Amino acid sequence: MKDIAIIGTGFSAATIGYFLKNDLDFYEKSRGVGGRCSTRRVDNVGLFDHGLQYIKSENNEFKKFLGDHTVWQGNFKVFQNDQLKDDLNKERIINENGNNLLVKNLFKNKKVLIFVNAFLFSFAHIIYLNPIVIFFTFIGGLIMAESYSKHNSLIKVSIEHGLYGDIVFTSGLGAYFYHAQGLTIG
Ligand SMILES: Cc1cc2nc3c(=O)[nH]c(=O)nc-3n(C[C@H](O)[C@H](O)[C@H](O)COP(=O)(O)OP(=O)(O)OC[C@H]3O[C@@H](n4cnc5c(N)ncnc54)[C@H](O)[C@@H]3O)c2cc1C
Repeated sequence: MKDIAIIGTGFSAATIGYFLKNDLDFYEKSRGVGGRCSTRRVDNVGLFDHGLQYIKSENNEFKKFLGDHTVWQGNFKVFQNDQLKDDLNKERIINENGNNLLVKNLFKNKKVLIFVNAFLFSFAHIIYLNPIVIFFTFIGGLIMAESYSKHNSLIKVSIEHGLYGDIVFTSGLGAYFYHAQGLTIG
């Protein structure tokens, strides 16, 4: 049992889950996630958005938050003073495979992404041919991936990476990185 329970799994619940970072319990009365941001598949018709048609926004932070999305290149019109005019207002954001994915993507398991990031970071250090290096870089990878998932800043994580590097070399562990390359110190 977790500390926080959220009723429903629509856009609002997905957003709060995304930002809270805690392990949350979600309760949903319908079959899947998305709420009014729903997509239906109909035989001989294909996919269609049953709820939310698009989101209007030009805010880049918001688009980054949505992740996988497309700007709908439609020919939009509005009625103004009894005339049909081109609507050159804000961009209309959709997911080409159904807008329900805009919500589903927010629910994606971040723990898996953090683990995969740590694995890749550790794997990149295989050139040192040293299991101790692989182990420590995996732990460091977990810490940095978790950190990036919280503040989304590459600069902050790069500084963190530099600091961990300093700790490794000032504590004497740096020798493990050089031995395998034939650059033994001393
Ligand atoms: C036809 C249509 C077209 C729309 N078009 C647009 C658009 O083009 N652009 C736009 O920005 N917005 C649009 N909207 C509005 C947009 O879809 C909603 O504002 C948004 O999806 C609401 O998200 P929400 O999470 O607040 O609520 P909801 O999506 O309603 O989510 C609430 C969830 O809680 C669940 N729930 C409710 N009660 C309980 C309970 N007792 N126990 C467990 N679960 C429960 C529901 O099943 C649901 O999954 C449209 C809506 C509709 C219906």
